[in-house]
Amino acid sequence: MPEDWQRALAVVAHPDDLEYGCSAAVAAWTDQGREIAYVLATRGEAGIDTLDPERCAVLREREQRASAAVVGVSVVEFLDHKDGVIEYGTALRRDIAAAIRRHRPELVITLNHRDTWGGVAWNTPDHVAVGRATLDAAADAGNRWIFPELTEQGLEPWNGVRWVAVAGSSSPTHAVDATAGLERAVHSLLEHRTYIEALTDEDPETYARRFLTETATATGERFDGKPAVAFEVFAR
Ligand SMILES: [Zn+2]
Repeated sequence: MPEDWQRALAVVAHPDDLEYGCSAAVAAWTDQGREIAYVLATRGEAGIDTLDPERCAVLREREQRASAAVVGVSVVEFLDHKDGVIEYGTALRRDIAAAIRRHRPELVITLNHRDTWGGVAWNTPDHVAVGRATLDAAADAGNRWIFPELTEQGLEPWNGVRWVAVAGSSSPTHAVDATAGLERAVHSLLEHRTYIEALTDEDPETYARRFLTETATATGERFDGKPAVAFEVFAR
C-alpha cells in the first residue's frame, strides 16, 4: 500500500460502509499520525425497517460519529443525498469534488463501485453510484472549469489526489496489515448497535468480532497470511 501520504478522505454512501472491513486500516493509519476524514453521501436513513427515516437519520449520524472516533477520525461530514436512491451524476460528482477540495487528500478511499461483490452477490445502486462518482471526482477536483461554481465559493482546485483505493473490491491489488487495528475495528463496528440489532439475532459483539475477524483472515490468505484489509488501488 502506498505509504508516502499524510491526508486521506474516505467517501462512502452510508453509515457503517467503512466499518464493515475498512476501519482496521484507518486505525493503523491514524496511529501513524495521518489525518483521515469521512464523508458520507447519506445518513443511512432508509437502513432500518422498524425506524422511520427522520428518526433513523439522527440516530445513525450519532452512531457514525462515535464509530469514527474509535479509530481516530474526528471529521465526519454528510452530503445529504437520499438513502437508497442516490443518483450517479454531476450533482454527486460536484459534491464529492467539493469535499476533496476542502480536505485536499493525497489518498481517497471509497467502497466497491462494481455491480457485484464478486460472484453472484449483487451490489447496491448507492455503492455503485458513490464509488464511481468518487473515482471521477478525484479528477474533477483538480479541474478549475468543470465545476466553476466551486471556485466561486472559494474552493480552489486540488490536483493532489494520487490514488483512489477501493475497499470491498473483488479484484484487490494492495493490502494493509489489520493486526494492530482489528480490535478497534470491532468496537468501531459495534457503535452501529441499533443497525446491528435490527440486522441479526446474534449478540452484537460476537457478530462484529466474527464478521471482521473472518473477513480479515480470509483477505490475509492472499497477502502474507496476516489479517489484512484489501483495496483495489487506482493511481492518478
Ligand atoms: Zn452501504
